[in-house]
Amino acid sequence: MSDISYPIYLDSHATTPVDPRVFDEMKPYFTEKFGNASSLDHSYGYDASVAVQQARESIAKSIGASVDEIVFTSGATESDNLALIGVMERNKDKGNHLITCVIEHKAILDTARHLEEKGYKVTYLPVDKFGQVNPEELTSAITNQTVLISIMFANNEIGTIANVEEIGRIAHENGVLFHTDAAQAVGHIPIDVKKLNIDLMSFSSHKIYGPKGIGALYIRSISPRVKLDSIVYGGGQEKGIRSGTLNVPGIVGFSKAIEIANDAMVEENIRFKKWTDTMLDQLSKVGAKLNGHPTNRLVHNLNVRFDGIESKAIINSVSQKIAISAGSACTTQMVEPSHVLLALGLSEEQTHSAIRIGCSRFNTEEEIRVATDELISCVKSLEKIKV
Ligand SMILES: *Cc1c(COP(=O)(O)O)cnc(C)c1O
Repeated sequence: MSDISYPIYLDSHATTPVDPRVFDEMKPYFTEKFGNASSLDHSYGYDASVAVQQARESIAKSIGASVDEIVFTSGATESDNLALIGVMERNKDKGNHLITCVIEHKAILDTARHLEEKGYKVTYLPVDKFGQVNPEELTSAITNQTVLISIMFANNEIGTIANVEEIGRIAHENGVLFHTDAAQAVGHIPIDVKKLNIDLMSFSSHKIYGPKGIGALYIRSISPRVKLDSIVYGGGQEKGIRSGTLNVPGIVGFSKAIEIANDAMVEENIRFKKWTDTMLDQLSKVGAKLNGHPTNRLVHNLNVRFDGIESKAIINSVSQKIAISAGSACTTQMVEPSHVLLALGLSEEQTHSAIRIGCSRFNTEEEIRVATDELISCVKSLEKIKV
């Protein structure tokens, strides 16, 4: 009866497959509708520009922004770079201080380090054992030199969701701008940038069943109007903020992906919660401990550790049946412990015993059951040879 194709993909925080409905929407923009969206002298360019405009409107609306507040980029990494470097460089006269936190994605942390090398001051706030920033600590970190606070919306390893509205309120009460990396949040939880006091927001298409290489930065245009420098120079596309010929098929697919995700969100999240709750329940019986927040979390995420068992041993031994990872895709090649798990207060040894599971729209209940059973029998056999 089963038509499971192995290995079962459970690494959705790294990337997701393109939804066939997204792919269908994109196809004509590779071939007959191939125009350059800036070439308005003929119908090829005009048609491309109309498609981009429609996508921009739809994406803006889905996050409570207006159409002129969306700048297309190559993904969340570029959006993070643009937000941090662009805002800090443009607002040098206001101050030189950036506040972020220790569990951010490398796209934020490495950009912050780059800014430090250029002479900016950066505060890396700690997090509690669930992965959340303390609002009082945030408030007291703000100085008269602080220009920007950047705190991620949902963590890509442990799924913890930040108190975004409160962080944004604190920023605004102190006249500071607020950026959030929402690559794991957009399309998974409802977001209204105005209600949540967000001034800049990075997001990406390939985490929500859209194509890779396309993303956006939301940049607030009123109260306050965010000003930022460009980090890419050229033809002046995207109001001069991000030059380069627009990735029209990518933009069309990105928009379709967000549209589908928002329509399916409630129903999918009910399903994901049931799956991850059941998995946690069953894996707990063989010693799994949850990493991250017990309730304020992405429901398709499950990060657990089996103390005394190496995650690499689990991942390798199940790899024919399940595709999972130890944590962030960008750091799994390294032997370094996860900076996120260390920040939660885990020992280095404990960080090496964690696995991350990310469910997707294309998983089935049967796949989840098979994967859970596989993990349980793997852990049991590794228990036996544990020293
Ligand atoms: C995936 C991810 C990124 C990088 O996004 P790209 O579009 O691949 O550049 C940045 N931040 C977070 C939180 C992510 O999960």
